[in-house]
Amino acid sequence: MLPRKDLFDLPEGVIYLDGNSLGPLPRGALDRASRVIRSEWGEDLIRAWNTAGWMALPARVGDRIAPLIGVPEGSVATGDTLSIKVYQALAAALKLRPGRTEILSDTGNFPTDLYMAQGLAGLVGQGVRLRTVAPEDVAGAIGPATAAVMLTHVDYRTGRMHDMAVLTRAAHDAGAVMIWDLAHSAGAVPLDVAGSGAEFAVGCTYKYLNGGPGAPAFIHVRPDLVEAVQPALAGWMGHDAPFAMEPGYRPTMSVERMRVGTPPVIQLSILDAALDAWDGVDLAEVRAASSALSERFIAEVEARCPMLRLASPRDPALRGSQVSFAFPDGYAAMQALIARGVIGDFRAPDIMRFGFTPLYLSEEDVVAAAEILGEIMATGAWDAPEFHARARVT
Ligand SMILES: *Cc1c(COP(=O)(O)O)cnc(C)c1O
Repeated sequence: MLPRKDLFDLPEGVIYLDGNSLGPLPRGALDRASRVIRSEWGEDLIRAWNTAGWMALPARVGDRIAPLIGVPEGSVATGDTLSIKVYQALAAALKLRPGRTEILSDTGNFPTDLYMAQGLAGLVGQGVRLRTVAPEDVAGAIGPATAAVMLTHVDYRTGRMHDMAVLTRAAHDAGAVMIWDLAHSAGAVPLDVAGSGAEFAVGCTYKYLNGGPGAPAFIHVRPDLVEAVQPALAGWMGHDAPFAMEPGYRPTMSVERMRVGTPPVIQLSILDAALDAWDGVDLAEVRAASSALSERFIAEVEARCPMLRLASPRDPALRGSQVSFAFPDGYAAMQALIARGVIGDFRAPDIMRFGFTPLYLSEEDVVAAAEILGEIMATGAWDAPEFHARARVT
């Protein structure tokens, strides 16, 4: 039964609607981190790579992410940041489709995904370029020049969700490779990446998976393709025998070839502990609860705040697990809300964003949040000068 607030250390007096950006601290994470630091690192020292299983940790954690995204064990590698994983998937996709020159994405995609594609296209040359179209126009834009379709499943700004099965089929019908970015999907909505047939899926683990700031990213490669994938970032941890210290790169015959360098052991351990929260949790139940919470929030906010405009799809089936409202002074309004203990975030130019995470949010929480937002808007409390000063991270 949800919520399971006992699984997290949430501060008193805070309603946390930003788990889509940085998940809260899972109960077991602190103990696990201190055990890894004190005992494994502190006492075992370098021996811990073997005695504490550090070297196998990236694969073990990947195997725990696999069921959450609907792919088989042994098909997910972890490490690095999502930006790096996007780059690896794109580079591999271009190699799989020589002669094709287009990376197709949508204008709502997260900037780093687009930047990584631009950077890669510049490096590769040969006419390769990134093209973006409106999210609803992607299917019709895939063509014979498209090497890869790279989409973020749930739009970080609006929460709009692409149809994974339909778009993957459209990409494949045109002979293109499909790459899904699951940053705002993993741990938020049920996923069937294997069923879609997509070649690659990538994502981060500090959002709905609660792995903590800077937690490692993941990449899934469709198992039949692993040996055809040529890693662009040919790091020693993806080598078949890293400690043979061979002069030439020879990728290992598994998804582990997408590993690059030394794994972030402490962060991976924290993520491993964080993933305990999903044991026995049915993502269909999470999805149903998050739809109910977000529907309630929209109704409560719209009843109180006529100046806010819903910027997410109204149909919950077309949304991920977040709700966005547009308001010209959204930054200041969000700061005022945070000052009252309701934490969401702001995305330029005018989006107030709220994430719904049924593992630790109840209906009372979202109603209370809407009431506080209603007060701030009705009284104009948001317009105080201190709420207009922009911090570095919004
Ligand atoms: C959060 C997010 C990222 C962040 O990338 P990092 O390399 O982890 O900083 C990238 N892409 C999308 C779609 C995201 O939502």
